[in-house]
Amino acid sequence: MQQPSLPSVLPSSPAVQDATATPEQLESTLARVTTPAETPIFICAFERCNRLFPSRDRLMFHRKRDHDSEDQGDVITWNEDAPA
Ligand SMILES: [Zn+2]
Repeated sequence: MQQPSLPSVLPSSPAVQDATATPEQLESTLARVTTPAETPIFICAFERCNRLFPSRDRLMFHRKRDHDSEDQGDVITWNEDAPA
């Protein structure tokens, strides 16, 4: 079976707010709104990595194993306040 493929560079487009979907549509389809508490997201923002993990602990385990680093920075998440 042919694997799906994507070009290495995707065309960018401006992000716009969804002003057409109704709450009823959101509830009747697979798409739905989530929250940081319900869907924790921690992304390893090291160059060319961008892997996603469900907790900071898991991300740091990956970072130590795959990057040989214990750097706490370069993490994209909506679960923690930005450092002061
Ligand atoms: Zn990584």
